[in-house]
Amino acid sequence: MEKDFVCGMNVDGKKSLKAKYKTKEYYFCSQNCKIAFEKNPEKYIN
Ligand SMILES: [Zn+2]
Repeated sequence: MEKDFVCGMNVDGKKSLKAKYKTKEYYFCSQNCKIAFEKNPEKYIN
């Protein structure tokens, strides 16, 4: 399982939405979380 850093949910890395930021891939439960992350990734990874 991977963690959705936006809402804190655990998500299935094989099925979930992904975004690459710097060298890492991040996983999301929904399009809304992905969009929120892409707008301000630093807010969520720190
Ligand atoms: Zn989410």
